[in-house]
Amino acid sequence: MLVYGATYFISEVPSPEFWEKDLEEIRKRGMNTVKILAVWEDVEPEESKYRLENHKALLGLCQKVGLDVLLEIRHKNRGFPRWFTKNYPESMMVTAEGYKKLDSACYNNPFYRRSSGRFVKNVVKEFKAYQCLKYWDIWNEPHLNSSGDHFYELNKMVCYCEDCQDGYRKWRAQQQTFNKQTTGDGWQGIDIPVLSRFTRDHRDRLYFMQEVMVNEAKRLYDLVREEDNRPIALHDVFISPVFPAVALGNDDWELANTVDIYGTSCSGPASTGEEGGENFYWFTPMVLDETRSAANGKPWWNSEWHVAGRILPLSANRNRTFETIKKEYFEMLTRGTTGLITWAYRTYSNTFCLVDIYDRTTGTFDHMTQITRRLKEINHFEQREIRKPEVAIVYDPTNQLKIWEETGDSKILHHATESIYKYLYDSNAMIDFIHGLTAGKASQYKAIVIPAPLGLSENMLEALKKYVAQGGVIVSEGCFSYLDGYASSIQGVPAHGFDKIFGIKIADMSPPAPSGKDSALIFKDRDGREFPAVYRHHYELVKTTGAKVLLESETGAKVTLNEYGKGKAIYISGLLFPPTNYSRDEFYNTLAVAGELIVKERDKKNCKLTNNYSILDYVFETLGMKGSLPLAVRRDIFGSLIVYHNNNDAEQMVKEEKDCYDIFSTAKYQSKRDIPLAPGETKVLFRE
Ligand SMILES: [Zn+2]
Repeated sequence: MLVYGATYFISEVPSPEFWEKDLEEIRKRGMNTVKILAVWEDVEPEESKYRLENHKALLGLCQKVGLDVLLEIRHKNRGFPRWFTKNYPESMMVTAEGYKKLDSACYNNPFYRRSSGRFVKNVVKEFKAYQCLKYWDIWNEPHLNSSGDHFYELNKMVCYCEDCQDGYRKWRAQQQTFNKQTTGDGWQGIDIPVLSRFTRDHRDRLYFMQEVMVNEAKRLYDLVREEDNRPIALHDVFISPVFPAVALGNDDWELANTVDIYGTSCSGPASTGEEGGENFYWFTPMVLDETRSAANGKPWWNSEWHVAGRILPLSANRNRTFETIKKEYFEMLTRGTTGLITWAYRTYSNTFCLVDIYDRTTGTFDHMTQITRRLKEINHFEQREIRKPEVAIVYDPTNQLKIWEETGDSKILHHATESIYKYLYDSNAMIDFIHGLTAGKASQYKAIVIPAPLGLSENMLEALKKYVAQGGVIVSEGCFSYLDGYASSIQGVPAHGFDKIFGIKIADMSPPAPSGKDSALIFKDRDGREFPAVYRHHYELVKTTGAKVLLESETGAKVTLNEYGKGKAIYISGLLFPPTNYSRDEFYNTLAVAGELIVKERDKKNCKLTNNYSILDYVFETLGMKGSLPLAVRRDIFGSLIVYHNNNDAEQMVKEEKDCYDIFSTAKYQSKRDIPLAPGETKVLFRE
C-alpha cells in the first residue's frame, strides 16, 4: 500500500477545535495516513510526569475519521527536554573544543540512555492500543553534528565527553591495526584525536561514532520491539553534500540495516526557498536514488516531503506550480517509494504548510489532490513495478573519509558524484548507488562508474576487480587508489593490481586541489584541435602498458580503455567534474568534451556529433545501451503509465510504440507519432 499523508504537528496546530475538521479534510483529499510527533519535551514536560491527553485525543479522532497513523517518537532535534539539560548537565555532548552542547545528550551517557529509554517505552505502551496506529518512526534525521552545518568543522564535532573518550579507546584497542607497543598503559593510553585531521586516528574516531549512531538506532528499535510488533521506520536527511560520512558521522546503509522502513526528508525548492532554486532538479532524484539504494530492498519513504515550499516571513504564500508538484510526485512513484508523507499540514511558523493558520488552502495542496484523485480514478495509486537499475555509482565511506583527510575538502566526492549522477540521469539511466558490492548484485549492472576514487576500501577494490574479470565495465575518474590505509600515497599507482586492470601506470602525479582551485585545461585530439574545459586542478602522467589511448592532452593520455578478463576498464585521468555543481549552466561540461573527442577519434569518417556527447554516452553505446531519447529527457514506467520528464528549456519530441493518452489533459497520441514535451514538462501517459 502507498502510505500517503501529511504530518500533523501537534505542538504547532492552533487549537484542538481544528483537529477533526483537518483530519476529515486530509482524508477527503485522498490521503490515508497522518504522521503525529510525540516530542519528548511535550509528552514528558517534567521528569517522569507525562502529558498524554492531547495525543490520545488526536489518535482517537484519527481512528474515528478512518486515517492510519505513523507515530514519530522524537527525542532529539528540537524536542529535547529542558528538564533533562538542567537535571543532568554532565550528560550533554561535548565539542572538540570542550563546550557542552545544550540541545543534545550523548548517546553513550547512562543518564540519557535511562531517561530516553523510559520515554520511548512509555510512549509505545501508552499508544499501542490504538488500532489506527500502523507504524513507528524512531529517529528523525540522525546526525552526529547537531549544529545543522553539513560541512565538516572540526571544532563543532562531537562527542568528546568522557564516556565517548573511553568508548573510543576501548573500540580502538580492538582494531587489528592497533599496536600495543605504542601505548605503554594499554587502552587507557590511547590518544584522542581532536583538532588535527591529519591522522588515521581521526578517521577511526569517525568510524567509532558511526558505530555509536548505529548502536543507538538498534537500541531504539529494540525498545519499541519489546513492546510492539508494528513496522519501525527511521529517516535521515540528505543536505548537500549528500553523503554524510564526514560531516554528519553517519552511514545510511548501516542505519537502514537496523530498521524495517528507511526514509529521507527530501525537499524540492524548499531547501532554497525558490521555485527552481539552485540544484533543485538534480537534488531530488539523486536523494531518492540514494535512499532507495541505502534501503537495499526494504520499503523506503519520503518521510518529510517538503512539498509546500518555504514561505518566508512577511512574504506572500509562495505556491508551487502544478508542473513541479507533478514532477516530484512522479519522480518518487517511478522509483518505487512506498510512502509520501508531506511536511506539514498546518503550522504556526507558516513554513512548508498545506493549510495556513488563517485557514487558507495552498495551491500546492490543490495540485497534490488533483494528481492523487486522477491516479485513483485510473486505479494507479498503489505501488507499481519500477525499472531495474542499469548503472551503479560507487559510494564508499572509507574513500570519502580518506579524501577529506588528504585534501581537507569534504565536498570533493559530493561534487564528483553529483556531476556523474546528473549525466547518467540525463541519459535516462536508472541509477543505483553501491556501498558494499557483492558478486550477485554487481552482475545486474552494465557499468559501474567510480567518482574520485582516491582511497577505496579493500572490500570495494576486491569486488570491482571480480566484477571486471567476470565481464563488467568500470569507468573511473583519475587518482585511482593512490591513498593507502593511512591516507599516505602509495608507490605504484594504480595499486592493488588495478594497473593490470586499467593497463596503465601513473608515472608522476599531484593530488587534487581543494574546491575553488579549478583551472582551464586544454584537451587536444590527434589533429591538434583544441578544446578548453573547466577542470579540477590535478596532474597525472599516464603511461599505457596495454591500454588503448582514446584521448590525450599535452600532459599525455587522458582517457584510456583496456580489456581485462571478460570485461573492460576505462580510466579518465584527473577529476572531470565541474567546480561547484553541475546544474549551474555557466560551467562547461568537461565530460562532454571528453566524449566528443572520443567519438571523433573512434569514427573520424562518419562522425555524427551531438552537443553534450559524453564519455558515459560512449560507454553506453559500446555496451549497446544507448537509447533514442533526446538528452535530458527521461522515460520512466509506473505500471501502465509512461512518465516523461523534459528537463530541457526547449520543446522535445518523443514517440511511443502504442497509442496513449495524457492522463491530465486527456490529449490522445497515436503510436509512432510525435508527442511534444514542453520545456520542463512532466507528461504522464496511459498506454492503451
Ligand atoms: Zn559523548
